[in-house]
Amino acid sequence: MPSVSTIDLHCHSSASDGVLSATDLVRRAAGNGVEFLSLTDHDTLQGLSLASKDAAGFGMRFVNGVEISCEWGGGQVHILGYAFDSSDAALNRGLADIRSGRVDRARRMALDLEKAGIPGCFEGAMRYAENRELINRAHFARYLVEIGICRDVRRVFDVYLIPGRPGYVPYRWASVKDAVRWILDAGGVASIAHPGRYKFSRNRLHSFFEEFKDGGGQALEVVSGSHSPDEIVKFGRLAAEYNFAASCGSDFHGPDESYSDLGRIPPIPAALTPVWEMFRK
Ligand code: AMP
Ligand code: MN
Ligand code: MN
Ligand code: MN
Repeated sequence: MPSVSTIDLHCHSSASDGVLSATDLVRRAAGNGVEFLSLTDHDTLQGLSLASKDAAGFGMRFVNGVEISCEWGGGQVHILGYAFDSSDAALNRGLADIRSGRVDRARRMALDLEKAGIPGCFEGAMRYAENRELINRAHFARYLVEIGICRDVRRVFDVYLIPGRPGYVPYRWASVKDAVRWILDAGGVASIAHPGRYKFSRNRLHSFFEEFKDGGGQALEVVSGSHSPDEIVKFGRLAAEYNFAASCGSDFHGPDESYSDLGRIPPIPAALTPVWEMFRK
């Protein structure tokens, strides 16, 4: 059996677009043998205090996390933050600003989908969003699968929810520079999430990494549930080239729709500096 890591620093609860509550998520992580966990909900810190308390109850190490939605080069990228002070005012203000237009964007997405012949998507997607202000495309995808428009969530994205498709509405995400600054000023460490998911040319990927590094970004998510073994090797090399520390996480969203379950990702390649060595003691 290939070895798996007991460290999982990327997952989602129902405070954003995860299916499980923070409590159920931590319980599942413990059951899967996770010994060190970070909850990294999109653009919100809401689940952290509960997850931290529950993790302690299982004897699990826990570190604050967040996955910030950013715009870069006309597309969406995600920046992970770790080990920050969750009461930091500027970080909380920045995240609140990202959240504040999501409901309006969701209404516009629903209008577009209605024009494409699928009515009722706003209400339908909202039923999946426990945290209304965090309504996102994953909630729409779940509703479109529920009503039989597509067979699974991935297919919904390919047909409806990506640029050029009828349900796609652009949004004013944070800049990479701001997101990194919020994380660092709150005492944390910033890591580029799932680099294998960005369909950038080689040159653009390098400019993205450069800009992140210039802004103070310190790490790259080398091991992600969404990375193939070849991508782990590729991004491991890039992390070494850029002198980035390496982070790892499943990006678990729920039992039926995730790339990887909690605690089921391979370990970080041995030559790299693990991101947690940079966390404040
Ligand atoms: P939003 O913040 O509304 O743009 O939604 C982004 C979320 O949609 C991500 O966090 C993922 O959970 C999900 N997502 C984005 N692209 C895909 C994809 N190709 N397949 C499945 N889920 C995706
Ligand atoms: Mn998500
Ligand atoms: Mn992401
Ligand atoms: Mn994620």
